Amino acid sequence: MAGKLSLAYFLSGGCGGCDMAIVDLSETLVDVLPQLEVVFWAPTVADVKYKDLEAMPDKSIDVGLYSGMVRLGEQEHIAKVMRQKCKVLVAYGACAALGGIPGMGNMHTKEEIFRTAYFDTYSTDNPEGITPQTRCVVDGKYELTLPEFYGHVRTLQDVVPVDYFVGGCPPHHSFVGQAILAILQGKLPPPGSWITSGKAVCDVCDRNPAARGEERQPIKEIKRTIDGVPGEGKCLLQQGYLCLGPVTQGDCGALCPKVNIPCRGCGGPIPGVKDFGLRAVSAIAGLLADEALVDQIPSPVKLFYRYSLPASLLGQKVK
Ligand code: SF4
Ligand code: SF4
Ligand code: SF4
Repeated sequence: MAGKLSLAYFLSGGCGGCDMAIVDLSETLVDVLPQLEVVFWAPTVADVKYKDLEAMPDKSIDVGLYSGMVRLGEQEHIAKVMRQKCKVLVAYGACAALGGIPGMGNMHTKEEIFRTAYFDTYSTDNPEGITPQTRCVVDGKYELTLPEFYGHVRTLQDVVPVDYFVGGCPPHHSFVGQAILAILQGKLPPPGSWITSGKAVCDVCDRNPAARGEERQPIKEIKRTIDGVPGEGKCLLQQGYLCLGPVTQGDCGALCPKVNIPCRGCGGPIPGVKDFGLRAVSAIAGLLADEALVDQIPSPVKLFYRYSLPASLLGQKVK
């Protein structure tokens, strides 16, 4: 593209791992940086304030990467400002795209979360029972405010229209490099798409039975990773370890199965799937040799919706 591509980045309700994935681009970053003009990167990298972003003309930024989910009023506000200022807005990483690990908070009410955080944990010393308030006055004259903590976690798309989605917790750095190059070269899929190779983790996994001309066999027992070391080179799912590789985008290159860990689905759903957890349930259930094995699946909601509960048809646990 002619000229530099202006970029804004915001870390919302996430851990910063998605930022690290960009730093992990290492030498690729050296090639890409001269083509980028980073106009906003908060709160981790650049010395900028929200008012700097708010003052920029509408649609003056080429691409905005929003990482993290939306739980606070402040996060919702910046999502709306990013949408206003950016021509293209990307939900970058599992939290922004699907709700991510923090989305597991939707298993509990806000009151339960506050009780655990401010009363029940052993490290908490709170004899006066103080909980965060959105507004308080100190010494009768200093007004302090905190953003509102909403009742549940939302994805970026729940708050503003999103142009593209990138999966991964965090996205794999080599794929981030390809995604940035695709943006720079204008080689993007239709708006509303995931930026992905379209392959499932199984498609890129060395353990895939199909790669050896073998057929998948029914699963006869359910195992957890603490139940021993999986057989070398054999499909984890076939051995009873509940691997979600069949339904997960494989842009990570099957990182987890490579080191004996079943895929947990951080890459997001393979193309065409609306509810990741439902598809995962369907894929695993179809392989079980005996219906009674269902009772042995540990923490099914956490297994199947670990990264995607807010984006699911359920959205949150109904109480
Ligand atoms: S997607 Fe994962 S790495 Fe990225 S912010 Fe969320 S928890 Fe952190
Ligand atoms: S189910 Fe898991 S271990 Fe088996 S081929 Fe797919 S990704 Fe690899
Ligand atoms: S194998 Fe699955 S859980 Fe592991 S990095 Fe890849 S997509 Fe994420």
